[in-house]
Amino acid sequence: MLDDTDMTHLRRCVALASEALDHGDEPFGSVLVGADGEVLAEDRNRIAGGDATRHPEFALARWAAEHLPPAARATATVYTSGEHCPMCAAAHAWVGLGRIVYASSSAQLTAWLNEWGIAPPPVRPLPIQEIAPSIEVDGPAPGLDDEVKALQRRCHA
Ligand SMILES: [Zn+2]
Repeated sequence: MLDDTDMTHLRRCVALASEALDHGDEPFGSVLVGADGEVLAEDRNRIAGGDATRHPEFALARWAAEHLPPAARATATVYTSGEHCPMCAAAHAWVGLGRIVYASSSAQLTAWLNEWGIAPPPVRPLPIQEIAPSIEVDGPAPGLDDEVKALQRRCHA
């Protein structure tokens, strides 16, 4: 279940995704929130420079590994505009982060790309729990998923 706090953080993720698109990157944004509700870090997609692994969820996993003790990682939440890809889901689980909340799912992204005739990505967009079965996952967020779809549409237009 998503509450008002979740929606606030997800809206920030969508704003970061929009900012990424404005910079020529792909529209994905993520926020790392501690157990006390403090925003610890945020990032957006940065692949335009040629490194296709520059996903925000991956960056936040590395940030957490560098800055947070294991107990703080386990109780932190990662909010993200689009469900983690397998690379990022693995990184999230390897560093021992906690709950994930996404505005739109990988299944939705796959359906949208299909609808628009866009070739699928080189890595299969599996559900997070196929990669990291013990992670608590919530999403999508009705209403915000449509905003993500509009950003993806602009990205692939
Ligand atoms: Zn990723």
